[in-house]
Amino acid sequence: MEYMFSVKGMIELRSFVDSTTLFAFDLDGTLAPIVSEPSGIAIPEDVRQSLMQLNGLAPVAVITGRSRADALTHLGFTPRFLVGNHGAEGLPGAAATAQDFARLCQEWKTQLIWMLPDMASLGIVLEEKGQTLALHYRKAADQVAAQEELLAAIDRLHPVPRVVSGIFVKNLAPANAPHKGTALEALLVHLRCQRAIFVGDDVTDEDVFSLHNPAILGIRVDSSDNSAALFYLQGQHELIRLLQEMIGILTRD
Ligand SMILES: [Mg+2]
Repeated sequence: MEYMFSVKGMIELRSFVDSTTLFAFDLDGTLAPIVSEPSGIAIPEDVRQSLMQLNGLAPVAVITGRSRADALTHLGFTPRFLVGNHGAEGLPGAAATAQDFARLCQEWKTQLIWMLPDMASLGIVLEEKGQTLALHYRKAADQVAAQEELLAAIDRLHPVPRVVSGIFVKNLAPANAPHKGTALEALLVHLRCQRAIFVGDDVTDEDVFSLHNPAILGIRVDSSDNSAALFYLQGQHELIRLLQEMIGILTRD
């Protein structure tokens, strides 16, 4: 990986940024610093102001694991595109499939309640997000045992979900639902954009980076040996500089 603000990184950034570029961002850990209680995330005011400015200069998308409704309460502005549920909610023209995904989640919920009637006493919390289900076990007294019970139940679900693991959470997405990578590529086609820049910090963002699509500049928040992204920031605190560089290039042209 190459540091974004190196000479090579800045040359790459300048070659990607113009008003027909799609600027796409993950939310938690990217636009907003991670906090111990996910409901308490907040986008720093300077980041929010810069994003709003960028949103007026070029298309901006936020692609998040949260539901759109949840994400909107934290964004404080409405980006041109807001894709929720790891790619499964909010893609233009995909309303019908989103309803199918929601129905599937209700089926899984019924099966999980039947298989894990003692879910609450195990400390497992089922969060209904519409097009995906999140099973949290952060608050379990025995997190290892809770995870084992959960994985055994998930194994028996029908139809088989795509499981996206997070920290003390298993997310269940329909197997044929778009992930963040396919969602971003669909937005590119929809907008007839030639290029996109995507910034993310987490395992689900690797679905974008690992496309190795030459039309997408992938930037990871923090470097990692296991990331497919070509460029990195030295932390979430550098996002503001990245936004300001983008705006600077757009307004100079
Ligand atoms: Mg994230």
